[in-house]
Amino acid sequence: MEKITSLAKRRGFVFQSSEIYGGQNGAWDYGPMGVELKNRIAGAWWKEMTQFHDDIVGLDAAILMHPRTWEASGHVENFTDPLVDCKKCKARFRADQIPPENLAAKKCPECGGELTDTRKFNLMFKTHIGPAEDTASIIYLRPETAQGIYVNYKNIIQSNRMKIPFGIAQIGKAFRNEIVTKNFIFRTCEFEQMEMQFFVKPGTDEEWFNEWRNRRWAYYEKLGVKMDHLRWHQHGPDELAHYAKDAYDIEYLFPMGWRELEGVHNRTNYDLNRHTQYSGKDMQYIDQDNNNERYIPFIIETSAGLTRNLLMILCDAYDEEQVAEKGNDDDWRTVLRFHPSLAPVTVAVLPLMKKDGLAELAQDIRKGLKEDFATDYDQGGAIGRRYRRQDEAGTPFCVTVDYQSKEDNTVTLRFRDSMEQVRVPIAELATRLRQEIKAYKRIK
Ligand code: ATP
Repeated sequence: MEKITSLAKRRGFVFQSSEIYGGQNGAWDYGPMGVELKNRIAGAWWKEMTQFHDDIVGLDAAILMHPRTWEASGHVENFTDPLVDCKKCKARFRADQIPPENLAAKKCPECGGELTDTRKFNLMFKTHIGPAEDTASIIYLRPETAQGIYVNYKNIIQSNRMKIPFGIAQIGKAFRNEIVTKNFIFRTCEFEQMEMQFFVKPGTDEEWFNEWRNRRWAYYEKLGVKMDHLRWHQHGPDELAHYAKDAYDIEYLFPMGWRELEGVHNRTNYDLNRHTQYSGKDMQYIDQDNNNERYIPFIIETSAGLTRNLLMILCDAYDEEQVAEKGNDDDWRTVLRFHPSLAPVTVAVLPLMKKDGLAELAQDIRKGLKEDFATDYDQGGAIGRRYRRQDEAGTPFCVTVDYQSKEDNTVTLRFRDSMEQVRVPIAELATRLRQEIKAYKRIK
């Protein structure tokens, strides 16, 4: 993880928030490469969920919601973590994340000092709206995006004539006052979620739950993620959230071990029932194709962290490879094997030399590619070094312009993963790149 953190900073993927002031715990900034990667991951998810499914539509709800929302959802009462402190070294832990024997003996796992009693700690960030800081003005930063979907579900049925079964997808920020925020961007206080809520008829929920588990698994396969680094974890009775009937996590083998990447939850009709109760509004679905049968739908949720997906993609792509006899210059390379559809830069154009018109020709080629691809241009230093720089940034294709290019209008297309090079006519470059992106298969 240290190597990934340092590469992320060096190459402009992720910076510590407010670094010049010593950093802000639990908050991170996404640099020029990071924001591109994040946008592409979000784009891939959005496309998968909305473009590929006629029965799913999108939403972008506000972060600030009526405070009653969080009473109805159960977050005010139940969204807590058990917290213990060490009286000696002042370390703070989540009681469910330290060895049970330490908890039982009230012994700090770090220094052996005495631990406090376990107390419940609500993870929602509270603030005030308006000028008066009284209890009437309390408002929360949303701890999940899901509730924005539930409170809008009737609006969407009416405005977009949706019929059950159907889904609503949303990507947005969520905030949790996490007690422990180690492991880089894995668990942060401010993060982004990609959530889809699928509304189904009660009784069909288990079938849809299995269907969505399969679809989400297939999604990661399509992204080219190492499938032996993914596994399912079913929540036991003591892990299930207050709203859930069944829940599975997709876990990824991060450098610090297996950890949750995404949750697929059967949330039953809990949330809509509670919103009916707290708002006094009728949240029933009226099935016009079925004698106006009325019911509160069940909800199958797929809930993935966008920023946690970004960490997964970085870890999954990271590789160090010996590319020449040991002891030679540049015998190792660091390479990020991003799927070309996720890579922040798709193609880098490199003139072999700056002189003799090669730079101008390379700039022209780049200009031609800009319309369709994220491009970079680099003319500084030996060509081998420039390839390594692009490898480390995860650029899947490099185009090198040399003297032959001026004569026969061809360039060298170099592939990041295999390091193979082929000669391609400039006129066919864009088509060839599109084909390569579509046909991409990870080789290592
Ligand atoms: P945990 O038990 O690890 O705290 P959770 O089970 O509460 O997580 P969910 O409420 O199911 O997590 O959230 C759905 C997804 O949102 C998670 O799978 C994860 O990808 C992401 N997520 C949740 N909390 C955070 C966080 N603090 N930082 C980054 N991503 C998060």
